[in-house]
Amino acid sequence: MLFPPTIAGSLPKPAWLAETERLWPKWLHEGAALEAAKRDAALIWLKEQEDAGIEIVCDGEQFRRHFVHGFLERLSGIDWELMTPMGIRNNRYVADVPTVTGPIRRDQPVHAQEAAFCRAHTRKKLKFTLPGPMTICDTLADAHYGKRADMAMAFAEVLNQEALELEAEGVNVIQFDEPAFNVFMDEVNEWGIAALERAARGLKCTTAVHICYGYGIEANIQWKATLGEEWRQYERIFPALNASGIQQVSLECANSRVPMSLIGLLSDKVVLVGAIDVASTKVEEPEAVAAVIGEALKHAEAERIQPCTNCGMAPLPREVAAGKLRALGAGAELARRQLG
Ligand code: ZN
Repeated sequence: MLFPPTIAGSLPKPAWLAETERLWPKWLHEGAALEAAKRDAALIWLKEQEDAGIEIVCDGEQFRRHFVHGFLERLSGIDWELMTPMGIRNNRYVADVPTVTGPIRRDQPVHAQEAAFCRAHTRKKLKFTLPGPMTICDTLADAHYGKRADMAMAFAEVLNQEALELEAEGVNVIQFDEPAFNVFMDEVNEWGIAALERAARGLKCTTAVHICYGYGIEANIQWKATLGEEWRQYERIFPALNASGIQQVSLECANSRVPMSLIGLLSDKVVLVGAIDVASTKVEEPEAVAAVIGEALKHAEAERIQPCTNCGMAPLPREVAAGKLRALGAGAELARRQLG
């Protein structure tokens, strides 16, 4: 199928599962009741995605509170009591973060059961998202490794163990989320992409990286306002990314100031074109989605374009996110008829 739609990853938690419209929501249940509620939420979103015409579906991150810490919670080497204040994304905002105090180890699977559950409940291609090594390192304080690059490589190794296991559960696409790639462009070229490739080593399924300007939260909206008329951060990293072994790149194109021509730098990749703005509660018209796809077509062949959301939709109201899923599916369908 031409223009198969997919999403960047997260979807809102239903109001009966967790606090709504929060990036770090509190769960409303505990123990077995919580696990059952998470599965119910994942089922709902799988169905919503299928009904909306999304071709590569995911769990909407219903099983984790946050896209980074959901993975980290089950690793050893991290002290969750030792919270260190840290400027995140080059001091865009400050948060109290856990501290790495010893070697990072993955003693047990993290998301395997969740992937198996989703696999059992959809016949669509299944995507699973994991935080990328650089973004993990930008969300933790280091009191053990001494060098960011070394810590990133340690995380890349455990991510790789996890990714291979998810693949074995029948996951078709493993996507690493690297919003930090748009912030530390020198480091991306020095070690960020190498760490990403380490995380993806040996995978036979499709591999993807998502690089964005962040969730539609206030700190990010203010940061974007300082980036000028054209956002050209991607230009610094796409050439090396295009030379890497990662097969797909997800980027932000809807209502952003990223020049669409930058996807011309990804001539060997499948491009997940962000055609849904996650910083606005206005649900797009299918025509607007199709128009973004049309723009992308000027710089990449149709076979390499997958319509996507700019970023995760976790902080949005549930009905808005559902509406945006339908707009994405309908827009891709329209583009197939008009441009295919
Ligand atoms: Zn994102």
